[in-house]
Amino acid sequence: MRIGYGWDSHEFKRGVPLRIGGIELPHSQGLAGHSDGDVLLHAITDALLGAIAAGDIGSYFPPSDPQWKGADSVTFVNEAMRLVREAGYAVANIDSTLILAKPQIGPHAPKIQARVAELLAVKTTAVGIKAKTPEGMGTDNAAIAPVALLLVERPGRRPLVDRSAEEVPQPEIDEVVEQVVKTVPAPAKIKSGAKSKSSR
Ligand code: MG
Repeated sequence: MRIGYGWDSHEFKRGVPLRIGGIELPHSQGLAGHSDGDVLLHAITDALLGAIAAGDIGSYFPPSDPQWKGADSVTFVNEAMRLVREAGYAVANIDSTLILAKPQIGPHAPKIQARVAELLAVKTTAVGIKAKTPEGMGTDNAAIAPVALLLVERPGRRPLVDRSAEEVPQPEIDEVVEQVVKTVPAPAKIKSGAKSKSSR
């Protein structure tokens, strides 16, 4: 099991669509950025990469690279998810907070939740989407997204020690028991055989 944490911020800008969590929201301004400025998906990408200690979004998709200009941030999440799967992990759950003055996130939260769930291959009940206004922070012209998530080992790739007894199939238990029995000397051998065997 591994924890991941991500954080991102983008400034509001007129004339661009507002994309948060892979969803386009109706608003007079969007978020400025080299890509589509999706603050939540960037934070999620960083949390995924951070959980497997694989660097950050900038090391895979540098803003200096023209191929990521205007890019759909879903691409970034998908690539981070590929690395997470390759490392043998899957997402267990994610929690996020969107800090922005406008627009109201509440009415759009179920849609964002469903899209994030789809991207991370989890149920919607494993996706927390919360929103706050930036009281006293002076950041009314920005959207900020902190994110935390948990990765668990993928089924079939988890080491035995990490699983509870109920999760381990009986043949696998039998195999381990057999190996343990092989390595433990039988009581009879210790009593009578040890002396004569070692003296030979
Ligand atoms: Mg960003």
